Amino acid sequence: MSVKRDIRSLSQDQMVQFFEANGEKAFRAKQVYQWLWQKSASSFNEMTNLSKSTRCLLEEHFYFNLLEVDLMQRSKDGTIKNAVKLHDGAMVESVLIPTEKRITACVSSQVGCSLDCTFCATASLKRMRNLTPDEIYDQVVVIDQQGKEYFDRPLTNIVFMGMGEPLLNYNNVLQAIDKITDPKGLGMSPKRITLSTIGVPKLIKKMADDQVKFGLAISLHSAIEEKRAKLMPLAHKSTTLSDLRESLQYWYYNTGRGVTFEYVIWRGINDEEADAIALAKFCGAIPTKVNIIQYNPIDNGPYTQASQEAVDMYKRILAKRRIVSTVRHSRGQDIDAACGQLANKSGD
Ligand code: SAH
Repeated sequence: MSVKRDIRSLSQDQMVQFFEANGEKAFRAKQVYQWLWQKSASSFNEMTNLSKSTRCLLEEHFYFNLLEVDLMQRSKDGTIKNAVKLHDGAMVESVLIPTEKRITACVSSQVGCSLDCTFCATASLKRMRNLTPDEIYDQVVVIDQQGKEYFDRPLTNIVFMGMGEPLLNYNNVLQAIDKITDPKGLGMSPKRITLSTIGVPKLIKKMADDQVKFGLAISLHSAIEEKRAKLMPLAHKSTTLSDLRESLQYWYYNTGRGVTFEYVIWRGINDEEADAIALAKFCGAIPTKVNIIQYNPIDNGPYTQASQEAVDMYKRILAKRRIVSTVRHSRGQDIDAACGQLANKSGD
């Protein structure tokens, strides 16, 4: 007896081989691929252009790894946080962020996280495992459905800013993005997708070599080596700022696109002029935009958000050097759905 496999772990070529080996026409693979990745089918029964016997054949050999929304919480600002249960019982969180023009999905790439950023709640969870491409894809589908149901609008943007470090799950994240952007999949423009990372130089270069078309955001938080080392000890262990800078130049020269720096300003940590000047200098390497993120407090965290004056000082210093900066206000703080607050708490 053959062991059943997850249907969505097969490439289209592998599906062709399966059908041919079972005396069926190769074009069935195309139909199944469409059901899986374009129509987001979650059972063989839905595949109505396949005969009953073909559906039975699939049922005999394959299964679906499905996830389920265990708990959906809605913030008073409209943000929705999903506690998502995976097939093995592991939990991740994904967030729908509504704005006037957009419905953004913030998705997770790993169960927990192996990094130890001292300001991030997910760091307390440790990394349990990588998400598979279909587990990433399904979070997107769920949020698209919620967008339509609760806001009457489909999903417009995706950010890989949920749990986990997407570059440490490189292949699965890129495969998921492939299914999301493939015209034979969800057909979403890669320009509407942003991958956020602590910045792993080797993998930033690999993305450039792989000619990815989505946007890149780097969690910088300090352009001063010793300070970044304290804030993000493991990021510092794997890279120096000068290696990071060099990899970003490689990215820019090979893709023609700049990057966004994500930056939280904390009181007494990085709220002085010298910090802003170091950031402005670091930005000089390639075209960049700075996204100043409001700090979302986490349990027992030693940090507090810097003053408005400090934020204004940063903006002034960046503007003087013609660097565009925006301030990202927190969404969904009341349900622990904001950046860095995802830690599988249901808030009871
Ligand atoms: N591992 C990836 C993606 C997940 S974090 C990364 O580090 O980029 C998404 C963003 O939220 C990152 O920029 C991260 O630095 C930021 N973040 C983490 N904790 C935060 C907090 N408590 N308040 C505000 N932003 C936070």
